[in-house]
Amino acid sequence: MLSKVVIANRGEIALRILRACREMGIKIVAVHSSADRDLKHVRLADESVCIGPPPSSDSYLNIPAVISAAEVTDAVAIHPGYGFLAENADFAEQVENSGFIFIGPRPETIRMMGDKVSAIAKMKQAGVPCVPGSDGILDDDNEKNLRIAAEIGYPVIIKATGGGGGRGMRVVRSEATLLNSISLTQGEAGATFGNDKVYMEKYLENPRHVEIQVLADSYGNAIYLGERDCSMQRRHQKMIEEAPAPGLTAEQRREIGENCAQACRDIGYRGAGTFEFLYENGEFYFIEMNTRLQVEHPVTELVTGVDIVREQLLIAAGKTLTYKQEDIKIHGHAMECRINAEDPDNFLPCPGIISRYHAPGGPGVRVDTHIYSGYRVPPYYDSMIGKLITHSDNRDSAMARMRIALDEIIIDGIKTNVPLHKNLLTDAMFLAGGVNIHYLEKKLGIG
Ligand code: ADP
Repeated sequence: MLSKVVIANRGEIALRILRACREMGIKIVAVHSSADRDLKHVRLADESVCIGPPPSSDSYLNIPAVISAAEVTDAVAIHPGYGFLAENADFAEQVENSGFIFIGPRPETIRMMGDKVSAIAKMKQAGVPCVPGSDGILDDDNEKNLRIAAEIGYPVIIKATGGGGGRGMRVVRSEATLLNSISLTQGEAGATFGNDKVYMEKYLENPRHVEIQVLADSYGNAIYLGERDCSMQRRHQKMIEEAPAPGLTAEQRREIGENCAQACRDIGYRGAGTFEFLYENGEFYFIEMNTRLQVEHPVTELVTGVDIVREQLLIAAGKTLTYKQEDIKIHGHAMECRINAEDPDNFLPCPGIISRYHAPGGPGVRVDTHIYSGYRVPPYYDSMIGKLITHSDNRDSAMARMRIALDEIIIDGIKTNVPLHKNLLTDAMFLAGGVNIHYLEKKLGIG
């Protein structure tokens, strides 16, 4: 087994990874910025190394500092968590070149999936259903671009191949604005991502976001762990996730799941990963693959009983998958609310000292958070301070447990989005299940 692992992340996910390592008898090195000395996992780790000042560009994104921390502590592997360096192929490559195990896919896989056009081409080849589109990067042949759009049919969406975080795309509803929109998106993409290449897709008007969790080892074995519905989003940021997706049939799950597992075998995928799809009128359309652990992985853990982080660590240690596809069964329903330190009315971040914290509990309640009474939420990082996850044998009961947990949780001293979650957990459409990705923004009056 791995003897010692560096956790190159912070907050709740660093604590989540620490717990999995502890259970497996793996020693833990926490790396942290000077603003994060009081993080819970830093206190609990076997060793900790301060890797720089508060801004993440100088600490959590500082590749030489992270690798040096592994060197000075004699660690054997680095877990990147999510965000920060998790999908940075150069980082994964430097980790491996320095003689450490990168807990994630091969660097070349990360690179291929990080470029949307090459990812889509690969997925098409592997038989994964994709959005009808331009089959590659748009060149400056105006006639050709007009023809492609006419063939796809309006509305279309122009997307930057190097885009991310919901930026670098533009919807075009008629031929009159197509060419101008292409050059505007190219200009913005060049300025924002240093890469002005764009492609075109059919714009789906009212899709849901449904994603498939996969696990693959280094020996060509791959399985899927069912799906998650993450349609409750604001500005492309997920707020509530659930598993399974309301209304999806076992047959649909099996078909798209098998498809993704086969794609993993075809591309030699290694580790945990997520295929993200837009889902409309019963059809799946691949949009991107996340080559890392996701924030919302706990809902899948609760309905399958699989510890995804433990599997990541085992795969990295060169073991074969613990489970075969037939071992994976979906039990009941799970739901996750992301708790953010932000003003629930205007969504502005709200850092500061948490004067009092009481965790909810009871049957089917899981709280993944690093906060404690007296903890100061620093202003430098993402505003998510934890996740409330509930599980029960059916969706209504999982939601009831979530309402109780939201009523029980006490976070004093800072503002959080708990009131907004309470409101959403009584929303008739959400309770019915199957809302699309625009629902939350429309409800908030910003759609
Ligand atoms: P990013 O990497 O920036 O997250 P994605 O390709 O995952 O980019 O797209 C982000 C979001 O943009 C999707 O979740 C969806 O809301 C919207 N989107 C992207 N492509 C389409 C499309 N073809 N039709 C409709 N909406 C889309």
